[in-house]
Amino acid sequence: MNVDDDALTTNSLAAHVTRNPVAVHAPVTVVGLGLMGQSLAGAFLRDGHPTTVWNRSGAKAEQLVARGATLAPSVEAAVAASPLVVVCVSDYEAVHELLDPAGEVLADRVLVNLTSGTSDQARKTAEWASQRGSTYLDGAIMTIPPDVGSPDALLFYSGPQPAFDLHQSTLNSLGGGTTYLGVDHGLASLYDVALLGIMWSILNGFLHGAALLGTAKVDAATFVRAANKGIVTIAGWTTAYGDQIDAARYPAFDSTIDTHVAAMAHLIHESESLGISAELPRFVKALTDRAVAEGRGGDSYAAMIEQFRRPSADRARPERGDRVDLDSR
Ligand code: NAP
Repeated sequence: MNVDDDALTTNSLAAHVTRNPVAVHAPVTVVGLGLMGQSLAGAFLRDGHPTTVWNRSGAKAEQLVARGATLAPSVEAAVAASPLVVVCVSDYEAVHELLDPAGEVLADRVLVNLTSGTSDQARKTAEWASQRGSTYLDGAIMTIPPDVGSPDALLFYSGPQPAFDLHQSTLNSLGGGTTYLGVDHGLASLYDVALLGIMWSILNGFLHGAALLGTAKVDAATFVRAANKGIVTIAGWTTAYGDQIDAARYPAFDSTIDTHVAAMAHLIHESESLGISAELPRFVKALTDRAVAEGRGGDSYAAMIEQFRRPSADRARPERGDRVDLDSR
């Protein structure tokens, strides 16, 4: 599903407070006071929301209570206290363990689940919430606890838009990058893992590069300047690649996959001859070799999407002539 720029609703806290000064004091409940839950509750308190909290280990509520939060005596009482209930615990199993017994108290509540999980878990939890008369928004937090509530903090939400619109002013307290993605409850989790994948690809590329340059006694702090410039340059290519992927046409306006493969061979050779790990570029080249074998060598790198759209080679049923050894060079 595409989300166009208009559907990505990002609001700065300052703009919101100016627009809707009454709603900033809407009551909210936070269930789960781990590192993240404490930050969430703290951000609501900072903006003046009457905040009810509950955690399995009650001691974690102490600092929040000192700042004005109300500690509910039970999870049921916490849910009953506010029309908007935010839950953030370790995983979805814990969400269900906590809220399954809450029963009818969940009715007429908007439940916002900021626990990390999969799109399938989000969609199933939406059905579960609906059976209890509750409206469900799934969310994903794309920041660390100390940054919750900052203008740059990015949080994704998916589910029914009326519920998001109703509570957006409260949710805005958690970050200036409060973003509604669409009605499909699975979207927040999918965006979450998609961005995590980008993060690890960039970080691993940086670390591999730092190891390469380390062999020439260039320290990592020096490499950062060139690395960051490269990351920004590459980020500029994704707009055209996105259009190519959606159109399923990959004219090589910049560089062919054949050219990329030749450079990958240099990277592997350099890594091996310098005595550092070549596993990452070997893996990338194995995927790219497969695209070349399928006749994509003259296309742009965006044609590699076809390699990512199918199951992994180690999970796919092998077809004749389609065996791929990801360890090959
Ligand atoms: P955490 O500090 O380990 O806290 C875990 C929370 O889950 C605690 O409140 C814990 O209660 C509760 N919990 C776990 N199992 C439970 C159960 N069976 N029944 C009741 N409560 C249970 O973790 P966190 O950093 O707050 O992370 C919470 C969620 O936010 C995770 O899904 C995480 O992926 C997501 N998240 C975290 C970050 C981050 O940087 N920390 C960033 C983005 C997203 P007790 O205190 O009683 O143990």
